[in-house]
Amino acid sequence: MENNTIRQEIEKLREIIRQHDYRYYVLNQPTITDDEYDALMRKLQELEKNHPEFQTPDSPTQRIAGKPQEGFPPFLHAQPLLSLNNAILEEDIRDFDQRLRKLLNQNRIEYVVELKIDGLAINLRYEEGVLTHGATRGDGLVGEDVTPNIRTIKTIPLRLLGDKIPKIIEVQGEIYMEKNAFNRLNQDRIAKGEPPFANPRNSAAGSLRQLDPKVTSTRELQMFAYGATLIESSYNPLTQWELLNYLKELGFKINHHIQMVTSIDEVIAIHRKWENQRKQLEYEIDGLVIKLNSIPDRIRLGSTSKSPRWAIAYKFEATTELTKVLDIEVNVGRTGTLTPVAILEPVNIGGAMVKRATLHNEDEMKRKDVRIGDWVLVGRAGDVIPEVIRVIPEQRTGSEIIFQMPTTCPACHAPVKREIGEAAWKCVNINCPAQRKEKIIHWASRDAMDIEGLGEKLVGQLIETGLVRTISDLYRLKREELIDLERMGPKSAENLIQAIDQSKRRELARFIYALGIPYVGAHIAQILTDHFSSLDQMIGATEDQFLNIDGIGPKVSQSIINFFSLPENLQLIKELKTLGVYPIQKKKEKPIKTQEFFQGKTFLFTGTLSHFTRKEAEDLVVSRGGKVAKTISSQVHYLVVGEQPGSKLQQALKKNIPLLTETEFEEKIHSDF
Ligand code: NAD
Repeated sequence: MENNTIRQEIEKLREIIRQHDYRYYVLNQPTITDDEYDALMRKLQELEKNHPEFQTPDSPTQRIAGKPQEGFPPFLHAQPLLSLNNAILEEDIRDFDQRLRKLLNQNRIEYVVELKIDGLAINLRYEEGVLTHGATRGDGLVGEDVTPNIRTIKTIPLRLLGDKIPKIIEVQGEIYMEKNAFNRLNQDRIAKGEPPFANPRNSAAGSLRQLDPKVTSTRELQMFAYGATLIESSYNPLTQWELLNYLKELGFKINHHIQMVTSIDEVIAIHRKWENQRKQLEYEIDGLVIKLNSIPDRIRLGSTSKSPRWAIAYKFEATTELTKVLDIEVNVGRTGTLTPVAILEPVNIGGAMVKRATLHNEDEMKRKDVRIGDWVLVGRAGDVIPEVIRVIPEQRTGSEIIFQMPTTCPACHAPVKREIGEAAWKCVNINCPAQRKEKIIHWASRDAMDIEGLGEKLVGQLIETGLVRTISDLYRLKREELIDLERMGPKSAENLIQAIDQSKRRELARFIYALGIPYVGAHIAQILTDHFSSLDQMIGATEDQFLNIDGIGPKVSQSIINFFSLPENLQLIKELKTLGVYPIQKKKEKPIKTQEFFQGKTFLFTGTLSHFTRKEAEDLVVSRGGKVAKTISSQVHYLVVGEQPGSKLQQALKKNIPLLTETEFEEKIHSDF
């Protein structure tokens, strides 16, 4: 890329970040999530690292971003309150360790590992043991003096305790709000018609920066102390460990999950543990902070203008990154659905290389206004398909190209159709090779017939060589035919034949799901199987019979009726039977125990639960004789509210549907058992 273009890209990115800093630090109204913001920052850091000639001292990568808000008196911190350098990958944290060992020329290093509490930094000044000032970090040098608000926080001592009271001390800590308090506050705000806060950190910041301390006093804020920049005392701690104990003696609340370690491997193990267990905490954390224990060594290492060299934030895996859309392609699914897919400049998201991200459908692509050449934020969480979250329109140069959906199928060139009320364009040719391939991939997938070794590539080969045209052809395959395929030896051919053979006796629910009936996912397939005693009974059922089943609506029943009315589908089922594919009907499991509270009642979930996956929670309801709804209606008896609830919460409040917190839900689940 031309140098001029890179310089422009860097400058634009800086401007975008400055705008977000302003909204976040000054207005306390972020418009993007922290993950998204961090992705912008990482990209800028990467570009500046690769092009040091464009580095400038006013770049957001070089400065602490906040600005004191008007309305509060300024407070000059005795020592600057710095940011922390970030590590996300294991190699970053190992680099940090190597760097320290080299600079200090030591083999044995002690680190204190602390939780990185997701709140906002505060600086507290005590003179002769009495709290005189409390100030936010601001731009690091000057913060907002919020002393009257600080005085309302019960975990902050107004007067220090013990027999080692310093003459002057400036203590740093993190002000935060517990998740439960945050949910309560938001429910209250919604009920009053006020906008809810985006997350607990945001609500802590908003609550602290109130001009009226009475408002702050109602907000259930807390603080963990983690450091001190100035101590004028006869007692001077020599390590972080001693300092934390000293702060505790003085009356501060210290987070008790602190650990002292002597190797970076221990740090990595602790990080892994908290990545899995963070949900169990009552407050949010976004990583760990690793600090050199020895204070004299810290002084030797010093700081840059932005961050200390002796500490690092070891953040949790990122799920969002910034990259470019190189092209847009259209993928044809098993039911003929055309899905636009962004082809990306490859980007590492949380350790996995991502080259493609779904744009879902034409409407979504237009709503997000994704164009070829755009800079986009891409998200990937767990096994979910990566998706384009949003475009950064400020990065446009004018050369981006708007993509038009094709009017014919890109695989078979048959015409495509979009039904009224449907979001997707569809290829109408049932013999479309792309559809056939996707159908077979779905058939063999883990939640369907689970044919080990039969993945996307191999299915592609089987279709291209003409060995397989339909699902039933799989059960006609011979070992000798397979051996000739590329990368297929006698052993793998034998394994595949065996895996296909084993799939002949799968449970009926898997078989139904594997058929790929539109709108029939694994959950609906299970409901159908629980209701009908055999496949033949299901094929012969009327629309009314389907509609009488709890959890089956008109869209699903129509789709099933359509599917079984097509001769080619009945032919497939017949052929499969002849080839020995006989699904097993498992005996219907009785609910473990019906509990009065759940019996016959309908539950709806919103937000993320910290102790269960959504599926686990729903299964628990069903196993206790309750029902699960997917949308708000007057049929819903309770809305279970997890973290970061969606619009269902507002709708439920409007309809006066009772709410259950996760703790209340859990209590009900465990009572009587
Ligand atoms: P940082 O991530 O650099 O970390 C430093 C901060 O960590 C300290 O100031 C302190 O408040 C906190 N901390 C928590 N526990 C600690 C402990 N045990 N020891 C020491 N420090 C501890 O913080 P920052 O400079 O405030 O970073 C910016 C953060 O703000 C990022 O997470 C970013 O995503 C977010 N941000 C978001 C937006 C947005 O628009 N969404 C905009 C700007 C910044």
